[in-house]
Amino acid sequence: MKHRSPWIYQLNHERPLSTLKEDTKTDVVIVGAGIAGISTAFFLLRDTDKNVAIVEKGKLAHGATGHNAGQIASYFERPFYELADEFGLEKAADAQRAVESAWELLDLMYAEGGLNIPVSRFLGHAGFSTFDQIIRHLKDNECRRRAGIKTEEMRIADTAPFVKDISPEYSGLYEIVPHKTVLEMLQTEDAEYMAVLSYQKGCLNSALFCQEIVSYMAKKYAGRFALYEQTPISRVSLHDGHAILDAGNHTVTAQKVILCTNGFEGFSIINQGGLEINTKFHHLVRGMVGYMSAYIETMNKPPIAVSYFPAENTNTTNDPFAEDPYFYLTRRPFEFEGGGQSNLISVGGPEFSLENRGMYDSELDYPEEEKKRIGDFVKKTYDPDPNKKIEYQFTWHGLMGYTPSGVRVVGEEPKNKNLLYNLGCNGVGILPSIYGAKRIAAIISGIKLPPSIFDPR
Ligand SMILES: Cc1cc2nc3c(=O)[nH]c(=O)nc-3n(C[C@H](O)[C@H](O)[C@H](O)COP(=O)(O)OP(=O)(O)OC[C@H]3O[C@@H](n4cnc5c(N)ncnc54)[C@H](O)[C@@H]3O)c2cc1C
Repeated sequence: MKHRSPWIYQLNHERPLSTLKEDTKTDVVIVGAGIAGISTAFFLLRDTDKNVAIVEKGKLAHGATGHNAGQIASYFERPFYELADEFGLEKAADAQRAVESAWELLDLMYAEGGLNIPVSRFLGHAGFSTFDQIIRHLKDNECRRRAGIKTEEMRIADTAPFVKDISPEYSGLYEIVPHKTVLEMLQTEDAEYMAVLSYQKGCLNSALFCQEIVSYMAKKYAGRFALYEQTPISRVSLHDGHAILDAGNHTVTAQKVILCTNGFEGFSIINQGGLEINTKFHHLVRGMVGYMSAYIETMNKPPIAVSYFPAENTNTTNDPFAEDPYFYLTRRPFEFEGGGQSNLISVGGPEFSLENRGMYDSELDYPEEEKKRIGDFVKKTYDPDPNKKIEYQFTWHGLMGYTPSGVRVVGEEPKNKNLLYNLGCNGVGILPSIYGAKRIAAIISGIKLPPSIFDPR
């Protein structure tokens, strides 16, 4: 199967690319033109008077941003109670509110950028089939309630055999409803799902979003903004008060460097006259490959996002990160082959661990077994009509680098404050990247921010 992402498909492939052709100077240089780099440029241009250049080794939004599931979600990929254990309840709650604030930042980017590309917002759902799954999420909700942040709505089927075993400490955090209600909310007839958890979610083509924001910034900030594509950075040298970046035959000199590279691969950082900056942290970043398939349908239903946690453990990797494998599905309006608006049903399955991130080949064909795994799930749970043959127009994969804390790293490098980060892909990165962008602009504006769980350590 060919590796083809629907998000890249929708980009303008005639857009002229501009590479770095001479040495250049700017106030702030951003490395990486995914959603983190583009959003960081947006808020820096908007909230400061700095000149900003982005350098990208490949093409705009062709990294994780062009190969994700395009679901807008505000959760961390670690239970909230674990974050509270590690960082304290207050800091965990601040971080949750911070990520939620990115919904408004996204609206602001849409409004100021005059964007008219589709974005949907709705109540998203997760379906659970086992007692353990339900209890884990109730525990999370109980911790949210203690932290004073919004809880997620849990509905449990009255037919679930374990209803009587739920501890009284979770009372008030769930509602018992007919099994039929759970299944209707999950848009399935698959009776193994016994509970549904609901929270605000949305859908966005984050690559198309980046393209449109770049086009806005190029017009609005014509004298202050530049994007250089196909310009890999091999070295960042930090000097007193400025940095020099090696980009092939040329250099970029800037006062501040912001790494939005989704990791530390392929370049070195030299802190001239200062302490060595330990980029070895990236060895701790776990590489997980996500596989996705998508098909086109008539546009006869509204957008949704639903995750399904089956009872059967389909984890074949023995990877502790994949202990609770699930399928995640979105349905959204999508323009395909000039045929007007259709719905795109896009489905991701369990992720697979890479021992070594370097082994990921972004050009690799899509494995047949992943297509079958996702196809079997769709037939069992979402689209069971035996007479319907589903043809997948898109099959793609992408690399998620999980930081050890599961939290995006945003802020100044403690050993040299001219180097900043907005990075750490994780599985949920759209809202965190946008929040990180606003936070970076505040830091560069000189605003003193309280410590947070996003701070580089
Ligand atoms: C399969 C999959 C599904 C996902 N689903 C979702 C989802 O539904 N919702 C969600 O919120 N998040 C999701 N994510 C995560 C989300 O896509 C990422 O967190 C987000 O796109 C990260 O954006 P980024 O800008 O940090 O990284 P990227 O988009 O990867 O951008 C980094 C850029 O840096 C460039 N770069 C790296 N090194 C250099 C260098 N030396 N010189 C110049 N340029 C360099 C790269 O070429 C790249 O373009 C998913 C990710 C994957 C892989």
